[in-house]
Parts: sequence; structure tokens; C-alpha cells
Amino acid sequence: MQEILDELVSGMRQEPDWGEVANYIPELGSIPLRQFAIAISTPDGRLFSAGDADTPFSIQSVSKVFTLAIALGRVGDQLWHRVGREPSGNAFNSIVLLENEKGRPRNPFINAGAIVTTDEILAGRTPGQALAEIVQFIRAAADDTEIHINKAVARSETANGNRNFALAHFLASYDNLKNPPEMVLGTYFHQCAIEMTVRQLARAGRFLVNAQGSPTIISRERARRICALMMTCGHYNGSGEFAFQVGLPGKSGVGGGILAVVPGVASIAVWSPGLNAQGNSLLGTKALAQLARRMGWSVF
Ligand code: GLN
Repeated sequence: MQEILDELVSGMRQEPDWGEVANYIPELGSIPLRQFAIAISTPDGRLFSAGDADTPFSIQSVSKVFTLAIALGRVGDQLWHRVGREPSGNAFNSIVLLENEKGRPRNPFINAGAIVTTDEILAGRTPGQALAEIVQFIRAAADDTEIHINKAVARSETANGNRNFALAHFLASYDNLKNPPEMVLGTYFHQCAIEMTVRQLARAGRFLVNAQGSPTIISRERARRICALMMTCGHYNGSGEFAFQVGLPGKSGVGGGILAVVPGVASIAVWSPGLNAQGNSLLGTKALAQLARRMGWSVF
């Protein structure tokens, strides 16, 4: 496994096109483009990694997998009254469907749906308590207490958050927020600003693997369903292409991270900050496609 990962990394380093780093906030825009890391964690706790595997990156929308697990744990199927389970075919921050569909976001992985999910976690809690719960969940999943929020990134998201504020106010106008938009977004921006290395993220993803030895912090059935949503919605309007190329459930973030799951076998984290046109890691996707082909890993 280690040899395969080392080979994969040297192949990636020779790629001519690394994509473009997200530039909507300076903290992400200034990250050096030519970085790549991959880690694989098996259910029994073994961990393989290669490349820039000790460099923490902003997990951004990968956090939506963890908040979905927490919210489902809190309110179960009630969540689906407020958010759907269909791919949107639109960009992660698109607002166009929200009016037609009366403020019920298509799925929990587009921004509008993730904002509703975070609102659910906030019910009866302060933002500080909700964030402590989110960070605690991720630390427990990764079995690592060294996972933190980058406050400068969160602040910058707030200062450049017009689109997310528009989404949150739109949701509120349809009575689909229980808390004030500012409070929900404050929490959402901080969850997106959590930093992890691929080694930490691969370990944190083991609860979705559903195998003997993997942590059961949520039920098997729920893990299976979260994986189904990762497959259909985890890469926004690039979800079909990701399923076609990689064939595994995955969730991307605009920081360049992707968490992918090989059900019953392993959790994989990749990171390369350069993005493709849909806002998903360009080389991260490419590497996952190569790895999946080489290992014969696919849910199909
Ligand atoms: N914080 C980012 C946003 O809300 C997360 C988006 C993403 O990772 N795709 O715009």
C-alpha cells in the first residue's frame, strides 16, 4: 500500500495542471498551489500516507459530513422535513432552486442545506456549545485532540460572506431557520474553518467505513445513508463525474480536501488545493480515480 501511495504522489507531482486555489478569501488564495497529500486508514486503525501528509488544510465543506451525522443523531429523520436528498446539479453556493422549492434545500451538502443542518445542531445551544460539539465529534472520530478551528479563516469567511448571508436570509424568509442568520452563519463559517491533515481526516472518516473494527459512533444504517448522499451530492455539480471517474462516495471542500469511503475496506483523504471548474480538488480527484482503478475499489 505504501509503495502504491508513493508512486501515486510522484505521478501527481509531474502533472502539468494543478488547477486553481480558491480565491474568495485571502487566507485560501495565498496557499501554495503545488501541494499534494493522500492518506488511507483501514478499519483496524492502520494508516498509510504520502506527500504533504502533515500539512493541515482548511476542511471547508468536508465538515458537512460530520455536521450531517451530528444533526441526524440529534433529530433523526425529522431533518428531512427541512432539507432534501436529491442532487442539485448546481454550484455549491447556488440560490436558484431555493425559491422554486420554497426554501427547502435540495440536499445537506450544498451550502443552503448545510446551513439548515448547522441550524439544527444549534437548536437549544449557543454557537460556542455547538462548535464544541462539532469539534469534539471530529476529534473523537479521528481519535486526535490536536484538531482546531482557524479563527482567521472563519473571520474572513464572515467578511466575504455575502452569498451565504443571502442564502441564510432566504431560508429564514421561508421559516426554515430556527436561529438568526448571523448566528447560524457564525457557526457554519467556524465549522468550515476546521483544519486537519489528510492523516487526521482519513482516520476521522473511519466511522463511515462500516467494517469490523471501524468505530461505530453512528449506526451502520446511518453511515450507509450518509455514504449514499456523498455519492450523489458530495461534489455538487461535479457529483456525476466524480461517481463516473472514482466510483466511491466522496465529499469535497473548497480548501482542496476530499474524504472518500471504500465501504467495508478503508477511508481515504486526499488534499491538493488547486480546484477544477466545479470547485473540487483537481489532482485529488485524479489521484482517487487512479487509486480506485489500481486497487479495484468501487461500489459498483
Ligand atoms: N466555506 C465555504 C462556503 O461556504 C465552503 C464551500 C465549499 O467548501 N465548497 O462558501
